Amino acid sequence: MGYTEEASKAGEYLRLALNHIAKQKLPADPVNYTVWYEYVSGKNARLKKAIDLFFKEKTPLNKDRVEGLYQKYVADGDRIVIGKLLTKISLMLKDISGHVSDTEGDLAGSGKHLEHLSDQIAQARDYAEIKAIVDQMIIETRKLVKSGKRLQTRMKISSEDLKQLNRELEKSQEEAQTDTLTSLFNRRGLEKQFELERIRARQNNSPFSIILLDVDHFKTVNDRFGHLVGDSLLKGLAKLTQSHLRRNDIAARYGGEEFLILLPETRIDGAMAVGRKIKKTLSMKEWKLKETGESMGKISVSMGIAQYRFNEPENELIKRADDAMYRAKHTGRDRIVTEDALEDSKAS
Ligand code: GH3
Ligand code: MG
Ligand code: MG
Repeated sequence: MGYTEEASKAGEYLRLALNHIAKQKLPADPVNYTVWYEYVSGKNARLKKAIDLFFKEKTPLNKDRVEGLYQKYVADGDRIVIGKLLTKISLMLKDISGHVSDTEGDLAGSGKHLEHLSDQIAQARDYAEIKAIVDQMIIETRKLVKSGKRLQTRMKISSEDLKQLNRELEKSQEEAQTDTLTSLFNRRGLEKQFELERIRARQNNSPFSIILLDVDHFKTVNDRFGHLVGDSLLKGLAKLTQSHLRRNDIAARYGGEEFLILLPETRIDGAMAVGRKIKKTLSMKEWKLKETGESMGKISVSMGIAQYRFNEPENELIKRADDAMYRAKHTGRDRIVTEDALEDSKAS
């Protein structure tokens, strides 16, 4: 069985499609595969025209819009198209594996393995699953490439191609966890970090703490200087916050003008010290408009601090920090309140 033109193209289309999926920060699910595969292969002219129009108007293609495009231009009632597309990807892999199975000796094992992977990729639902499969493909194709030049030249999908695909996947995974404005973790990224931290806390029997930080009267900044200046201030605040953190500390944009800082191996008093440092720097900093240098005055923040209690769910910890932050707001802003202070006032 030879390596067909069809399979070579399928590999290239798959890569281009994944590129779009990553760029638009979409989930790598069958609907997205299908829409972007059809788009890059140019086989669906009406879909291509519709997407190009979105690009021209610079309208972001979010999940709902892609779903709309799918319903309008791709799904022909019975969703056969998804099957067709995934079959194409599988075909690409099966073709390599089939080719390999024809050759001799220990290569047959790799061929079988690739064949198995091609079945798996059709069922992959997220980045992590695809990545695991691609990792395996790299290992198998590496074995194949070692096995002889003739095979290497005949197989257009080399391990280099797969490595590239893997890098793209890694990048898209990273992008999906990063807040575009501040480059801090976004909520999705934070969730992952939380999970890791909870495991580490359990293993080392060492608690961690969080600080929830909300800008005071941020609406006034927007109202006075405009939304873009507000954005740039958030960027500056993210940088300032990060400059006070250790390498293993984690800062995330939790909401619009709200940040969450996760401090590994830190108790309330340690978190308080970090909060105070940030507060002190802010109290001395005068913010200026980039273009004119005009002063915008000072910015203050309110912070709530809570310490992780073993095995509690993440939302309970955040709730305590949020309650503390709320208290900071209601007792005059520009201050730090810990969960202990809430307990004290409850008791009295
Ligand atoms: P408080 O001290 O009670 O926190 O007052 P506040 O004005 O900061 O609070 P409020 O929650 O009323 O308003 C938050 C404002 O933050 C409103 C919203 O327009 C603005 N905001 C949220 N996200 C962004 C963003 O990404 N960029 C900009 N420029 N503004 C944002
Ligand atoms: Mg807020
Ligand atoms: Mg605020």
